[in-house]
Amino acid sequence: MTTKKDYYEILGVERDVDSDTLKKRYRKVAMKYHPDRNPGDKEAEEKFKEASEAYAVLSDVEKRKIYDQYGHEGLNGAGFSGAGDFNDIFSDFGDIFQEFFGFGRGRRRRSGAVRGSDLRYDLEIEFEDAVFGADKELELLKNEKCERCSGTGSEPGTSPEVCPGCGGSGQYTESQGFFTVRSTCPYCKGKGSIIKDPCRECKGRGVVQKKRKVSLKIPKGVDNGSKLRLSGEGEAGSGGGPNGDLYIFITIKPHKHFERRGTDLICYVDITFIQAALGDKITIPTINGELEIEIPKGTQFGDKIRLRNEGVPSLRTGQRGDQIVIFHIKTPTSINKKQEKLLKEFNKLDENKITNKLKNLLKGF
Ligand SMILES: [Zn+2]
Ligand SMILES: [Zn+2]
Repeated sequence: MTTKKDYYEILGVERDVDSDTLKKRYRKVAMKYHPDRNPGDKEAEEKFKEASEAYAVLSDVEKRKIYDQYGHEGLNGAGFSGAGDFNDIFSDFGDIFQEFFGFGRGRRRRSGAVRGSDLRYDLEIEFEDAVFGADKELELLKNEKCERCSGTGSEPGTSPEVCPGCGGSGQYTESQGFFTVRSTCPYCKGKGSIIKDPCRECKGRGVVQKKRKVSLKIPKGVDNGSKLRLSGEGEAGSGGGPNGDLYIFITIKPHKHFERRGTDLICYVDITFIQAALGDKITIPTINGELEIEIPKGTQFGDKIRLRNEGVPSLRTGQRGDQIVIFHIKTPTSINKKQEKLLKEFNKLDENKITNKLKNLLKGF
């Protein structure tokens, strides 16, 4: 077995690091070495895996305790294998929050510990925020661990008692002839303990509903329907169970000029048939501001020009898409006498007139 690097060293943190600093530090390291940012770089991928493994352990109170006491060997002994957790991360790159918080799934359930519920938050963002990224603060109501009883549900100074219905196993066993039927203890609902003296703050639930602010970083390039996951920002778990996750479903407000197609931005530009025929220089909007472009001579209705790198950055690679300008030719509905005269003159001179083409076609019959 190869010697493994120290988890604290990998993340560059002190041994007494608190969970917030740890999370921040991990995000930094993970973002730096993320395979999407370092395509084909084996060394970066290794570093990313190392950091993810280190974080998986250090962010878990129990695993961290074992690691602090017994090192890597201790974790092997406890039946924890890092590999399982990573395959999870790498199998699901579509979920962009995996890159920051790839954990929380498949956590083993301790007896009586219940994982908090996941929360859903629908967030509508400005078109530009999706293109350039943004920092948002969300306010939501959620169940959080009750501080008065530290989530136990028992009034401070008292503690839950072993359930008399099941003797603490949380299961109810009943013999029916040859069979033994096991079911969840109806008395304690499987927890194995009951609260005699419920906490006054949370009425024994162990959680209280609170308004909470959550900061969210919207990555550049999110699209309609993108789903962001904030691990551990869901409802509080109970009985020592982990928090649920917060899922943010993104919808993007429409833009007055642009339509988005993947990383490309489509915009329709009205021009006159004179501009189409003669060519012209016009100023059009781009997501980065105004830009002067040239209408080519002889432009037809629906002709396109592509403006490189004026689109939306790709969520994965950061590479920007293009802006595609589609020309719509408008026929004037009111013209003055002089214009009419000139157009009639032009018409007489026009060899390519459609009526001429028709005449030539009919000659063949
Ligand atoms: Zn309480
Ligand atoms: Zn019971």
